[in-house]
Amino acid sequence: MSAQIIDGNALAQTVRTELAEKAAALKASRGITPCLAVILVGEDPASAVYVRNKVSACEKAGFRSIKEVYPADVEPAVVLGKIAALNADPDVHGILVQLPLPKQFDADAVLEAIVPEKDVDGFHAENVGALMQGNPRFIPCTPYGVMKMLESANVPLKGAEAVIVGRSNIVGKPMAMLLLAQSCTVTVCHSQSKDLAFHTKRADILVAAVGRAKMITGDMIKPGATVIDVGINRTADGKLCGDVDFDSCKEVAGAITPVPGGVGPMTITMLLANTLESAERTLK
Ligand code: NDP
Repeated sequence: MSAQIIDGNALAQTVRTELAEKAAALKASRGITPCLAVILVGEDPASAVYVRNKVSACEKAGFRSIKEVYPADVEPAVVLGKIAALNADPDVHGILVQLPLPKQFDADAVLEAIVPEKDVDGFHAENVGALMQGNPRFIPCTPYGVMKMLESANVPLKGAEAVIVGRSNIVGKPMAMLLLAQSCTVTVCHSQSKDLAFHTKRADILVAAVGRAKMITGDMIKPGATVIDVGINRTADGKLCGDVDFDSCKEVAGAITPVPGGVGPMTITMLLANTLESAERTLK
């Protein structure tokens, strides 16, 4: 039997409509327009597309956006100076620096330069710590989007076996914290894990966040499992695909996200949600 498809495009559209309504209400009642500043350094084509999509999503939801683009050889001090100015600007509610940064940058130092109150990606150490303590200020957008997808599909979390493949600071680790906070029993796998299939086959909820095309196959998952595919890869013929072999897994899973049209649109949606939340907090 074929799995339920968790449609990220449809959910993103619903949530973005709600966010646009809230942004319009904030503007009408308090004269505040949520504003996101995005900094792009260098000419990486994928990064340029991500930034363009973020700016376009802001515009469509009635948010203001600021896009700052620097050449790959820019001095880090220039970018840090811009971050300081955006930190001090009361009309800017969210600041993000598109990763990866060129090698003359200390990426951690750049992320730490953003004031935690405007760190809508949730990557600042203070915000990582707050998430770890179960009291998040901003939830990192990709795992936040995954949690919304699980909620929309009514996936039971309490006591569920959750297995995450990938332990990055951006996806795997915060994903583990969020699922743990919902009382899942969490296993995190990585490149040194022995017998990956042993772990994935035990999962009621499997999150793949690796960056290896179609590495999770139908024989690696438990019948009825919820399979969330965070991976974005390009096949030899230039098509997008996830870390999950969709065709074989959809015959075994209970619910599954596609690529494209799954987690990707939800990531940008939650960036808007965090920016709106930051704007609303300025009233408190
Ligand atoms: P990273 O490269 O930072 O992390 C990849 C993780 O996968 C690492 O923890 C690595 O282990 C692990 N890994 C590598 N090979 C294996 C293997 N053979 N078996 C098990 N684990 C392995 O990637 P990100 O977390 O940033 O991104 C992961 C994927 O998600 C990428 O395809 C990326 O493009 C995509 N992505 C999608 C987003 C979206 O909105 N849909 C947002 C962010 C990312 P180790 O730590 O040991 O090296």
